[in-house]
Amino acid sequence: MITCGGCPAEWGGETRAHCSGCHRTFTGITAFDVHHKGGECWPPRQVGLEALHTSGNQILWGKPREGELPAAWVKEAANA
Ligand SMILES: [Zn+2]
Ligand SMILES: [Zn+2]
Repeated sequence: MITCGGCPAEWGGETRAHCSGCHRTFTGITAFDVHHKGGECWPPRQVGLEALHTSGNQILWGKPREGELPAAWVKEAANA
């Protein structure tokens, strides 16, 4: 697992993107770029992203219907 030095978040998969500004986790650099346009952190829903998945107290933000969730997240959802 990858961890952040500034918050308790941890996530699997190097394609995930974690924002060091607001500590949200995104499905990938594409979703992160949407969130972080202009060098500012935008509220995900305001820029068209959705809370695709939660794992524990973490939320994975991404574009609606963007597939390919990591196995760990899918497993969490199945158990929820
Ligand atoms: Zn951010
Ligand atoms: Zn963080």
